[in-house]
Amino acid sequence: KEPCDLNELLREIEIFGRNLTQKHRFVLELPDQPLRVTVDRGKMEQALENIVSNAIKYSPEGGSITIRALGETDGALIEIRDQGIGMTSEQTLRVFERFYRADTSTTAVEGTGLGMSIVKHVVEGHGGKVWVKSRRGEGTQVYVKLPWNREDGGKG
Ligand code: ATP
Ligand code: MG
Repeated sequence: KEPCDLNELLREIEIFGRNLTQKHRFVLELPDQPLRVTVDRGKMEQALENIVSNAIKYSPEGGSITIRALGETDGALIEIRDQGIGMTSEQTLRVFERFYRADTSTTAVEGTGLGMSIVKHVVEGHGGKVWVKSRRGEGTQVYVKLPWNREDGGKG
């Protein structure tokens, strides 16, 4: 793991998303201050790419995908939001299970059902948390909270 400004990483994640689709609109909302966290860059990029891939796969052409970050007292908060098919509350609860796929997605697109279980593993391996809010037919928000880099003691 190495110290890193999350803003830089999220700019790369947006480019990753734009390279996957020309049919969605991307919105990147980052704070002016650096967000200093400690990450295994490769793993954290893979995790955030899994979330963005889902936002693309499970939302229609023309939909907006918003990647947002902000600094909170206990860490950096990332939100990745789409305007896609969404999930019921039962499906939302199961999204981190290995091989779980909601019925709506098995017909819509291909996948193994592993992406979000990897996200949880990676984020928790960084001392962070991940959770999902979603409504069927209205879209999904995925939140990732990462603790501040300890070595420089905070947001500063
Ligand atoms: P993989 O990521 O392994 O290719 P997958 O996308 O099906 O396959 P996950 O990323 O683990 O697997 O997601 C699990 C399931 O959660 C998906 O199949 C889908 O039903 C639901 N899901 C995840 N993200 C979203 C989203 N942004 N909108 C709607 N449903 C979602
Ligand atoms: Mg996936």
